[in-house]
Amino acid sequence: MPDWPRLIRDIPDYPRPGIMFKDITPLLSDAAAFAAAVDAMAAPWRSLPLHAVVGIESRGFIFGAAMARSLGCGFVPIRKPGKLPARTLGEDYALEYGHDRIEIHADALPRGAPVVIVDDVLATGGTLAAAARLARRQGMDVLGASVLVELGALDGRSRWPDASPLHAALAA
Ligand code: AMP
Repeated sequence: MPDWPRLIRDIPDYPRPGIMFKDITPLLSDAAAFAAAVDAMAAPWRSLPLHAVVGIESRGFIFGAAMARSLGCGFVPIRKPGKLPARTLGEDYALEYGHDRIEIHADALPRGAPVVIVDDVLATGGTLAAAARLARRQGMDVLGASVLVELGALDGRSRWPDASPLHAALAA
């Protein structure tokens, strides 16, 4: 068993009471652990001809960009509203309380480009599912998704939109 999981720190009641926040900063600051975690996230996609990794703001950028470098493909950001400078497509999705929105550049990739969606934590699954819908509306061929940590008790996996693989490097 690799020892990178021990460098993910649990912070109780952050950012709100009742949330056990997975703090990845100790993992990121350790070169060997960061590399091992990125390798674990990239491994399922290594033999596929990916055009790009699609990373979700903000911690999905860190793992997504590192995975893109490791897999030898490009990187496309999915961002919070108003952050991307050119024409965007947006997707609204429900949160436990309220709603949120994410955006992608309308011309991010040519139609049919194979991609993998990446984020750090799968909780309720709403963010990852919305990102997959958005990527498909842009014309991307979503081959699957990789997350660093899946919070199994929240069953976010059930919201993943289809049969494409959802890979978690660590189940918590
Ligand atoms: P969800 O849409 O509920 O799956 O939430 C996933 C998004 O919220 C990801 O972008 C995570 O970075 C963040 N997130 C949700 N829950 C946690 C948690 N317990 N620890 C760290 N990040 C979380």
